[in-house]
Amino acid sequence: MRVVLINFYELGRQPFGLAEPARWLDDAGFDTRTIDLAVDPLPARGLADASMIALHLPMHTATSMAFELLADIRKGAPDAVLCAYGLYAPANARRLQALGVGTIIGGEYEPHLLALAERIRKGSTDPDLGIVGDTARIDFRPPLRASLPALDRYAALNMPDGHSRTLGFAEGSRGCKHLCRHCPVTPVYRGRFRIVPVDIVIDDIADQVQAGAEHISFGDPDFLNGPTHALRIVEALNRRFPSITYDATIKIEHIVRHREILPTLADTGCLFLISAVESIDDAILERLAKGHRASDFEQAVELVRKAGIALSPTFVPFTPWTSLAGYMQLLQRLIDLRLVESVPAVQLAIRLLVPGGSLLFEIEGFEDIVGDFDERLLGHPWQHRNPAVDALQKRVEAIAQDAADRDEPRRTTFERILGATAEAMGEDPPILPSDIGSPIPAHSEPWYCCAEPTVRQLASLRGPT
Ligand code: SF4
Repeated sequence: MRVVLINFYELGRQPFGLAEPARWLDDAGFDTRTIDLAVDPLPARGLADASMIALHLPMHTATSMAFELLADIRKGAPDAVLCAYGLYAPANARRLQALGVGTIIGGEYEPHLLALAERIRKGSTDPDLGIVGDTARIDFRPPLRASLPALDRYAALNMPDGHSRTLGFAEGSRGCKHLCRHCPVTPVYRGRFRIVPVDIVIDDIADQVQAGAEHISFGDPDFLNGPTHALRIVEALNRRFPSITYDATIKIEHIVRHREILPTLADTGCLFLISAVESIDDAILERLAKGHRASDFEQAVELVRKAGIALSPTFVPFTPWTSLAGYMQLLQRLIDLRLVESVPAVQLAIRLLVPGGSLLFEIEGFEDIVGDFDERLLGHPWQHRNPAVDALQKRVEAIAQDAADRDEPRRTTFERILGATAEAMGEDPPILPSDIGSPIPAHSEPWYCCAEPTVRQLASLRGPT
């Protein structure tokens, strides 16, 4: 029996979310195929023999793309049982079910994908499992990456000296022990995280090194949810592959609290850390329940730099509580901290996304500033009470897109954003100093997990027309 797993988009990564369930299904004797629409168009043929098609929805962009293509997928496999899995599946269950997706799985999805496949194989006339949200521990197995596209077709690591390195992708854990209100992990995992055993992580990396990986990007929501586990992974990685470098995502709170670990990360090949700073406004950070203050961000910059690691901060600069002056302060802080070269322009254009089931509704009065869930937007729409803030966000987004199209130097793009902000405030733009920091290693795919897909991303799904 053939099972097809489809990935739509995962920040340019070769998806663990396909490779891990592929192993479980393959071990159980299913003819398991994987299609990664992030790098290949939907095949004109190839779905017809599938008895089950599983759609991987780990993020907002991927989910928007899935809805774009669901009719085509159904047309290609009219008799297949459809299911959806990943963080964004439960939040969009109603619309998915209305479109014929009978099984929706959040959390640890592998056992449920397998159970669904078994029910189909046994000839069940009603195999669907409905909505399953399960974060119980599972026994991870070595991911099966052989059927996925080659690593050099995914995002690369661009080094400041102009050369690039082939990226591999690994996960040492899933879920998160924190409860940030705007985060899509929170409604599904509710403060739990699950670790992938060290030997499985290292064997997965070994397969990718064999396939050409020169740098590993750890995709854990937060690499230091389990600091001992993280240290075991990077020490084992460095022992086995001393020339392989890596990056990881670590929240500001953990960088500050576990500062004694930073030198070990540097010694084991960590080139840079990605950290969701989100805002430099303490009142906004409090609303988001981020667990850090603006001063912690500044401390983290210093600690990470002192350890010899670069910091790549990410932001949600446009929220219902953002002011024009507050946005200008963010730009100014990036100048003062010499981080201008460390922040992709798209990060300065992100607008708060409010997915279904978001914990943002815990904020008093939040329901008064957002609309009802909009199935087309896959979230609750909101407008800023000051239209000039929304207008600036659109302008910054257009600048970021244009800059990416033209491969513009970050300094130039930042100057344009600074100019647009000053204009919105009716002021002269500040002069950018000559020292704005140095370029740092960066993924060639600087997209953000919770952003709308671009017109170009949607077009690429269908291949050449
Ligand atoms: S934003 Fe980061 S730290 Fe907060 S809940 Fe999400 S993954 Fe965890």
